[in-house]
Amino acid sequence: MSRVGFVGLGNMGGPMAANLAKAGHAVDVFDLMPAALAKAEAAGCASAGSAVNALANAEVFFSMLPAGRHVAGLYLGSDGQDGLLAQVPDGAILVDCSTIDPATAKRVAAAAAERGIAMLDAPVSGGTAGAENGTLTFMVGGASETLEAVRPLFDAMGANLFHAGDAGAGQTAKVCNNMLLAVHMAGTAEALALGVSQGLDPAALSEIMRQSSGGNWSLEVYNPYPGVMEGVPASREYQGGFLVDLMTKDLGLAMDTAESSGAPVPMGGLARNLYRMHAAQNNAGQLDFSSIQQLFEPKSST
Ligand code: NAD
Repeated sequence: MSRVGFVGLGNMGGPMAANLAKAGHAVDVFDLMPAALAKAEAAGCASAGSAVNALANAEVFFSMLPAGRHVAGLYLGSDGQDGLLAQVPDGAILVDCSTIDPATAKRVAAAAAERGIAMLDAPVSGGTAGAENGTLTFMVGGASETLEAVRPLFDAMGANLFHAGDAGAGQTAKVCNNMLLAVHMAGTAEALALGVSQGLDPAALSEIMRQSSGGNWSLEVYNPYPGVMEGVPASREYQGGFLVDLMTKDLGLAMDTAESSGAPVPMGGLARNLYRMHAAQNNAGQLDFSSIQQLFEPKSST
């Protein structure tokens, strides 16, 4: 049993903290939203009253926040207030699971290292279902011995654990993966729309491409065309799943990351523009990202 602190109990952090409690760990939690706190308490976590209190007794402390500015604010401080780095108990390990830009992850980890504090960036893949079912994939940046110390806690929340490299490498791996996901989802939707416009059955075309050289994850498990696959967002009007707004955020992180190293990302840039157009034209920000299919619907020529 470990003593764990957990801050950020939203769609992802809430079920992750609940799975740690379910595995028998003592989990002190904090969130700005009372409703999120109440849910975590009902799942066996203890409300700490503040982030500082959630950290006070922790051997390992997790954060799962919306974006880089929240993570920097929490650990480094803001508006003249000290961040959590000033109050980390001896030997405690910090793990940020939020999806943020690699530059901020490196900056926070470097500030932690200056104080002799071990920190990992450990963004996740697998969505809210993965968080609830404890089947997330963690992509970890930081020292391998720190990862090994946290491994039992990762195992309580996930099914796969990858060491991507040094501080920030987990975030870089996540950014690359989500950029590729956006590109192949948009390409899959475009190909399906072309076939359907020529009179093909979307299910038959999906199966042909899935078993041919166009096969990819979207066709395997997340078909974007309504009615082709059961149990995916496309078959429930794109409700739930991974929101267009979050995918657009992640594509922005990919562009910022590419800017910092000069890497060309023309496909990622196009995917970002497609998702932005989709969000604006179809009011789709709160729909699942496979709803990009709607952008390729043939428009009437009359
Ligand atoms: P969310 O908005 O549901 O949850 C974020 C929580 O953080 C909220 O409850 C908010 O009140 C809390 N919070 C914000 N600032 C805080 C602070 N200073 N102190 C305490 N609590 C604070 O977001 P989410 O869907 O849980 O996503 C969290 C992270 O995980 C994001 O970086 C997101 O990109 C990433 N992610 C999300 C998914 C997904 O499918 N939702 C999948 C993979 C990764």
